Amino acid sequence: MKKEADDFEFARRPLEIAAKILNLDHGTWEYLRYPQRELTVNFPVKMDDGSVRIFKGFRVQHNNARGPYKGGIRYHPEVTLEEVRALAALMTWKTAVVGIPFGGAKGGVVCNPKKMSQGELERMTRRFTNEISEIIGPERDIPAPDVYTNAQTMAWIMDTYSMKKGYPIGPAVTGKPMDIGGSLGRVEATGRGIMTVTREALKKLNYKVTPLDNKEMDECLRGGNSTFSDESPDYKIDGATIAVQGFGNVGSVAAKLLQKKGARIIAISDSKGSVLSRQGIDVEKALAHKEKNGTVIGLEGTEKLDSGGILGIDCDVLIPAALENQINKRNVDAIRAKIIVEGANGPTTPEADKSLFDRGVMLVPDILANAGGVTVSYFEWVQGIQSFFWSERDVNCKLKEIMIKAFDETYDTSKRHGIDMRTGAYISAVKKVADAMRLRGFFP
Ligand code: NAD
Repeated sequence: MKKEADDFEFARRPLEIAAKILNLDHGTWEYLRYPQRELTVNFPVKMDDGSVRIFKGFRVQHNNARGPYKGGIRYHPEVTLEEVRALAALMTWKTAVVGIPFGGAKGGVVCNPKKMSQGELERMTRRFTNEISEIIGPERDIPAPDVYTNAQTMAWIMDTYSMKKGYPIGPAVTGKPMDIGGSLGRVEATGRGIMTVTREALKKLNYKVTPLDNKEMDECLRGGNSTFSDESPDYKIDGATIAVQGFGNVGSVAAKLLQKKGARIIAISDSKGSVLSRQGIDVEKALAHKEKNGTVIGLEGTEKLDSGGILGIDCDVLIPAALENQINKRNVDAIRAKIIVEGANGPTTPEADKSLFDRGVMLVPDILANAGGVTVSYFEWVQGIQSFFWSERDVNCKLKEIMIKAFDETYDTSKRHGIDMRTGAYISAVKKVADAMRLRGFFP
């Protein structure tokens, strides 16, 4: 499916609205509309059959006013410069909204990793790293995993970069395997951040979110068998119903942690379709089922819906955690959730945003909701630079603190201006970046 320029409107429109509300001067706004640097590379890779193939890759650096550029690298047959550009900008706003000292970047290589051997993937990754090595680095631009890249990909990038410089440089990438400087808690970080902001959103809408009593707290801290067992125990959610679109890394972890907190997961989906159980789905069993069958379809005790059907389910919280543009003008009227927490990047189109706000649906935007991943990436970078590694409990507690602060800031800004939370998040993020630019001044 060819992506059109309009598909990335989700990254442009909120900046425009925030800039107007902030009364941003034209020059600053213009600067923020475009990336500071875009690099396109075409490079050769020797394939297993002896042939040479040329691959195209991108690294887009949107803004570094607040710190080094930061963002993932995706491998996908349909990745485009336009898409990478939109996602790089989203990273600038995401790092600003949670207040971590990074800018925004993104990368991509046009390839089909499902049809490549490990050897081919390794050679492609190493050569791509070589091509972009002049503009990345631990103080410059720090890549991380994204669609179809993983901890192994990061290990190859880190090694190639280190070979070029002549010494091991762990903080050159984040999302690394534990044995070469990864952080505890990184794998679950995005889902954990979603769990935290979902709980805060439920509190704002007066759902029953109650502090644990002393006995429960004690059990959690001792790692006992409490249903609410968690490294950072505090609140339980009594029975809020939740539907999760996309049962991958983000969606399944968010579902698992929310269930541990007492929420009822009533529907989950993947690319093959959705399943529903009003009594609640056991997330651990769903994970085991997906592992065995490659899909959530057929999970015992559930009924099947078509894959789009999950969006219209009557529930308290809907978590779109799959792809862009899922909630759009065609299906927005069918949404019955009271809260939407965006696990994926750009799952709601600007038209749908407006309609949801007019109907009083609370939407926790992507740049806030899924910022847990980049926040723990920041922790990984800090730990690597200090060569001093934290416990998982420390990581999770610090993450929770940052997510709650960012949620409160966004919520308060949106209430103060009488606007939706996406615009609230952009106002707070754009202001931080614009202030940094103003303080630094424009060289020369
Ligand atoms: P993933 O590949 O692990 O999971 C994606 C899931 O979505 C899979 O289960 C897939 O089957 C499902 N899916 C695909 N098409 C679907 C459809 N039409 N309907 C329902 N489900 C569908 O990916 P992930 O890492 O979980 O990322 C999901 C989203 O979250 C992406 O937009 C990604 O950019 C964003 N995100 C991820 C992270 C992270 O730390 N992994 C951080 C921030 C944002």
